[in-house]
Amino acid sequence: MFWGRALQRKCSSVLRVHASLSRWPPRAEAKMKKQEFLAPGTDKKISLEKTARKAGALVFGVADPDQFTAAPEGRRPRDLLPGAKSVIVIGGAKPRAGDWASPKFQHMELSSTNDRITAIAMKLSHTIEREFGYYAVTTPPGVDEGQQPFLSISLAAELAGCGTKSLAGTILSPDHGFVYLAVVITTLPLPFDKPLDTPVCPAKPCIDMYEETGYTPCTAVCDASSGGCLSGKIDNGQWQDRYYDAARCTARVYNHWIPSFQKILADSLDEPDKETRRMKVNSSLFTRTLWSMTYANISQGQCFECIRVCPVDAETRKLG
Ligand code: SF4
Ligand code: SF4
Repeated sequence: MFWGRALQRKCSSVLRVHASLSRWPPRAEAKMKKQEFLAPGTDKKISLEKTARKAGALVFGVADPDQFTAAPEGRRPRDLLPGAKSVIVIGGAKPRAGDWASPKFQHMELSSTNDRITAIAMKLSHTIEREFGYYAVTTPPGVDEGQQPFLSISLAAELAGCGTKSLAGTILSPDHGFVYLAVVITTLPLPFDKPLDTPVCPAKPCIDMYEETGYTPCTAVCDASSGGCLSGKIDNGQWQDRYYDAARCTARVYNHWIPSFQKILADSLDEPDKETRRMKVNSSLFTRTLWSMTYANISQGQCFECIRVCPVDAETRKLG
């Protein structure tokens, strides 16, 4: 199934119909935060935010570990690091304009991983331990038992003011849209940021489009009522009735990688004919799946059609 391309075709028509969608937010509102955190009790002039930004992070914020009450017990910052005082969230490493322009969705397995932003988190953890002498743990981006994350990175990002959840569950930064996220939990006490006052999603152009057509750009390309994953009602500029079919989305996002490996493995084990089994194991789908797992082993997907049409930070997905 070539789901990505089918959606791409539908999305192109949405973009044609709604070509008047302007950039959101307007450039003047897209400000960078300028916080500087210095090591307490030392005269070392090291700013963790500058360190992260210099390494490529676009988004930086700090959450209060005491605010993770919405997370289940066992999955809060101090469950990973006793005595944690701060939760640092960084974001970036988003696909480039060329990635959005490419008709070969397969190449996204290179651009759509969170390993680059996790590497920056590791750098921050090293800096905190070596330069400041406090403990630091980079939250593992994978899942723990029961397919549960070690810590909800989305919740951390919201608490740190790095963005808010979009309809499809990904965090949208008001300035940079869709970004990959990583979290460092540390015993270093830092000043906290606050959650954003206004949800990034639905953006103003989406509210206008919804009032005109009953759809937002993302619900138009992945409409739950016609085999997609998204739907909802906007009332007073807010999502009231939101629906996201996470299981269906996962099956479409991860054409390769671990879910594909599990599917092909189960299918091959059930295959009684030796020659057919051999063909399945040597198929290009299984080979690509193994490639995707071995050289981009953290997280990746091949469907981003809801983000492709999202007006938040849309201008950086297209040059000129
Ligand atoms: S990534 Fe977005 S467009 Fe693709 S299946 Fe999931 S919700 Fe739909
Ligand atoms: S297009 Fe983006 S901002 Fe608009 S409703 Fe969808 S996810 Fe939210």
